[in-house]
Amino acid sequence: MKVTEHIKASTESTLFSLEIIPPKKGDSIDSLFAHIDPLMEFKPPFIDVTYHREEFVYKNRENGLLEKKTIRKRPGTVGICAAIKNRYNVDPVPHIICGGFTKEETENALIDLNFLGIDNVLVLRGDSIAEEKTFRPEPDGNAYAIDLVDQVMGMNEAKYLDEELQNAVPTSFCIGVAGYPEKHFEAPNLKSDLKYLKQKVDRGAEYIVTQMFFENSKYFEFVEKCRAAGINVPIIPGLKPITTKSHMTALPSIFHIDIPDDLYNEIEKCKDNKAVKEVGIEWGIQQSKELMEKGVPVLHYYSMGKSDSVYRIAKALF
Ligand code: FAD
Repeated sequence: MKVTEHIKASTESTLFSLEIIPPKKGDSIDSLFAHIDPLMEFKPPFIDVTYHREEFVYKNRENGLLEKKTIRKRPGTVGICAAIKNRYNVDPVPHIICGGFTKEETENALIDLNFLGIDNVLVLRGDSIAEEKTFRPEPDGNAYAIDLVDQVMGMNEAKYLDEELQNAVPTSFCIGVAGYPEKHFEAPNLKSDLKYLKQKVDRGAEYIVTQMFFENSKYFEFVEKCRAAGINVPIIPGLKPITTKSHMTALPSIFHIDIPDDLYNEIEKCKDNKAVKEVGIEWGIQQSKELMEKGVPVLHYYSMGKSDSVYRIAKALF
């Protein structure tokens, strides 16, 4: 079932959902199940599975030239989605990214997902690799999430790159895209960012999931600006519980988001990460409560491989 159908079917209450990261190469899938199992109590209708590009650039010590190396650090998004569907009977939402993939490789991954009966994809550009200053697509790859939306929409209209598939049945993926209440870090301003977000929606995206934020006013203002710009699809807030002191610097630096003064001050006072975790849970509960009261369709938690904080927040609310 499509994410948008889940939302339509649940007009009275807010849904709980989560995003998981594939386990590291060599780990067992049981570590993932151990993480998801307790959260099934809150009946997530869908679970997102992130995708990670598989190469990085390094400097060859002998000739000093930059070279690419393929390393599958977190393999298996497609397989994990199949396993989640099979074990929990919920809709997995694989993330599909432009970075590191040619259009042909993307088509093959989407064909596999369609074959497995997966109805949704979250379409993203991906970030540049550490050694590149700006994002560089593959020579035959998609440059922006919009281009990837076009590719998926093309397949939804039975337009495949592989000529042998011209008579194949069309796919019918429901497409989600990312939105940034605090603006994407590369965008010169929010207006420009919203212009491209609207293009993603106009070209076929049916819902938006936001980057994490810690101040609800940022989400509410973002939704207001989206509506004023003519973006009328559901906007799902993404939330992350703070669990360590290091998040105070790591999250702003990685995700380009602000930590509000009140939260920062509370965390500063904590003696250890056990105390930080409690502050993070309480903050998450209060944030979630307010969002629920304002009638958000879904509360989407970035669990990042740890279920206990998300469990405690959900237990207080669902
Ligand atoms: P885009 O929508 O392509 O936008 C990128 C930038 O380019 C923006 O500044 C935008 O304003 C601008 N822009 C867009 N279109 C155009 C255009 N046509 N011309 C000029 N400028 C344009 N990363 C992963 O690698 N794997 C994941 O699984 C993953 N999951 C994520 C889930 C969520 C909910 C979010 C919010 C992010 C996720 N990311 C993931 C990170 C994401 O890949 C990065 O934030 C990336 O830098 C931007 O992706 P995007 O899809 O928003 O890009």
